[in-house]
Amino acid sequence: MRIKSILVPFLGLVFLMLSCSKDDSSTPVQATGTIKGKLMVKNGSKPVGGALVFVFDDNNKLYYTYTQANGDFSLQAPIGQRKLQMQTGGGANFRTSLQVTVVKDQTLTIDSSLSRLDQVANMAYVAGYYDEIQDIVTGLGYTITQITNADLADYSIVSQFDIIFLNCGAKQGYVNAAMDTNLANFVTNGGSLYASDWAVAYLTGGGSNSHDCGETGGFIPDDKLCSKNIGASTTITGAQVTDANLATALGFSALDIEYNLGSWQNVFSYDATYWDVMVSDPVSNQPLMIKTNSFSSGTVSDPVGDNENDGWITICHTDDSGSPITITIEESEWPSHEAHGDSVGACTNTNNSGTIYYTTFHNHANGNIGNSGLILEYVILNL
Ligand SMILES: [Zn+2]
Repeated sequence: MRIKSILVPFLGLVFLMLSCSKDDSSTPVQATGTIKGKLMVKNGSKPVGGALVFVFDDNNKLYYTYTQANGDFSLQAPIGQRKLQMQTGGGANFRTSLQVTVVKDQTLTIDSSLSRLDQVANMAYVAGYYDEIQDIVTGLGYTITQITNADLADYSIVSQFDIIFLNCGAKQGYVNAAMDTNLANFVTNGGSLYASDWAVAYLTGGGSNSHDCGETGGFIPDDKLCSKNIGASTTITGAQVTDANLATALGFSALDIEYNLGSWQNVFSYDATYWDVMVSDPVSNQPLMIKTNSFSSGTVSDPVGDNENDGWITICHTDDSGSPITITIEESEWPSHEAHGDSVGACTNTNNSGTIYYTTFHNHANGNIGNSGLILEYVILNL
């Protein structure tokens, strides 16, 4: 009796274990560990929020997460030797990768000196007045080359760069057809632009700024955007961060924006199918920051900048783990992605043109711009 009473529950346990293992084999579960870290800019001075952090398993299934506003990330990852990748803006211009070993049910913490976002892009700026985006770029530990307003009329100069920053007040002269053509071709062939305040004149025309709709010059059609230099010196309190990704990356959805100079550009009208509104005035609902990937009307030629031959390509990856997602991979990895139906180019922008960001606010000469500075850092890293 004594032996039987022990044996019966024991046999029951064996049966349960067999049942479990049978279920597991019909739906295999990838063993995982956890990778934790904090992504910082190159010189370690600021965290990077909203960055994509990912690894692939052996079947090219994507495991990913995004960094929080404080740069922290925690990624559940398949076990084994993996390439941990950290990318912003689709990864063409800023990215870092590390070889890691993921152990089942263990947490690997990345040393903070290794999780720094590297600059891939060649970046240039045109100097302006009361606006110095280049100071923010260099303050993060990245490098940027100064070019002149006149250089924009020379495509052999323009096409060397992946990103060009156009400071407020940089533009001189109403009509420069070569400049307009070059900027159109630059964006069409993958170059990205950031323009602030009066530099809207590069986009839609005007001399040093835009007085009215339909200004002469520029390369973006006038029906897509009109701004007028009628803003009064003021602080807009509670400006709304209307773009969800931007709000997540920043860690806030409202901020005060100081316009310390009069005559700033008010967005008078815009095409909502062409521009994404990122930040808006809470009272008038006028956009204060907009972005587009829609421009591709220039002449298609070789990709601009340093990305053309760097051995990496931007693709739209799809698997059963979620929505299509834009990543940048080594070209040698492309055949395995092509095999499961990925496409070359960003998911939202298959024509491979670049991004244009425009803000009505900018970096003050005194640099004391509060949370606006975090938005400008985001722009730099996501072009
Ligand atoms: Zn893929």
